[in-house]
Amino acid sequence: TKPADRPVPRAGILDIAPYVPGRSKATGGSKLYKLSSNETPLGPSPAAIAAYQATAAKLEIYPDGSAAELRTAIADAYGINASRIICGNGSDDVLAMASHVYLGPGDEAIYSKHGFNVYPIMIQGAGATPVVAPEKDLTAYVDGILELVTDKTRIVFVANPNNPTGTYLPFSEIRRLHAALPSRVLLVLDAAYSEYVRRNDYESGIELAGTAPNVLMTRTFSKIFGLAGVRLGWGYGPAEVIEALNRIRGPFNVSAPAMAAGIAALRDRAHIDAAIAHNEEWLPRVTEGIRSLGLDVTPSVANFVLIHFPEEKGRRASDADDYLVSHGIILRAMTSYHLPNALRMTIGSAEANEAAIAALRDFLHRTA
Ligand code: PMP
Repeated sequence: TKPADRPVPRAGILDIAPYVPGRSKATGGSKLYKLSSNETPLGPSPAAIAAYQATAAKLEIYPDGSAAELRTAIADAYGINASRIICGNGSDDVLAMASHVYLGPGDEAIYSKHGFNVYPIMIQGAGATPVVAPEKDLTAYVDGILELVTDKTRIVFVANPNNPTGTYLPFSEIRRLHAALPSRVLLVLDAAYSEYVRRNDYESGIELAGTAPNVLMTRTFSKIFGLAGVRLGWGYGPAEVIEALNRIRGPFNVSAPAMAAGIAALRDRAHIDAAIAHNEEWLPRVTEGIRSLGLDVTPSVANFVLIHFPEEKGRRASDADDYLVSHGIILRAMTSYHLPNALRMTIGSAEANEAAIAALRDFLHRTA
């Protein structure tokens, strides 16, 4: 065989389906309501914005690559050990590090059918094989996952709550999954939306990641903290796992403005509480409002809802998407999640939520 005449990606890279972000622009409407990426309508804490801006005075200096101050702030906020935290350029970065450390060609990693669709990108990016587990009622299904475990399984990814379904797995089920998994399998508990959950039996994974030798919990500043634009996330797990992730971490993977903003955001408890209260008020109102139009909504515990449309021509999700976008309202199409008849809507401001429900009503009535 002749040597290639150009750089050739290694096997499997071009089989990865590119990540398709939500739309950011509308095609009409006098106001823009972006409810497509689970961003908070409250924005970041004003203290986080001020801290971010203050770092502009010394942008020529490299950030602290060990993120010591941020890890201490996280440790204080959550009552955990700073040496077992790793920070990332978004939690995506932590998911990528875990994949590259524990997966390689021939290995398998399991995630649920409608799990977060960055997992297959990370799995395939590491050269491993994604294995898709069945669900029950759009919710992760422990027995379905366990049936797929083989000698090659190295990671199981579970987001709880899950994106894009908003569904919730009782923590007793997570514990059952963990207990049944071989201890050589890393269980990644993705808790990106955990602050929004209002359930007595909810655990984000802090305790399990703090005690088990094979559990990594991931968290983000992108959702309730309103810092999606700065890219900041973290992982918490066994010392050995964190040490291994640190071996491949980009030396300065978190920027100084991001760290400063994150530290300030963690300390503004009132802002976090306001975001929780807003979601607690609007999640049920949006759910009921959309159901009252005759559309199905998957029960959600997060800051978004999955809306199911009929298959009827003119009323499909893609028709609704086009209609809403032409009225300034951006929801998230779910075709890349194999849910062609659904749209995901983020809980937005009161005005945005009402505008979206009104536009959905108009959309359904316009053909009735
Ligand atoms: N996990 C889940 C379940 C998510 O929905 C997201 C954001 N879409 C992430 C992780 C990644 O978030 P980030 O990289 O912004 O921290």
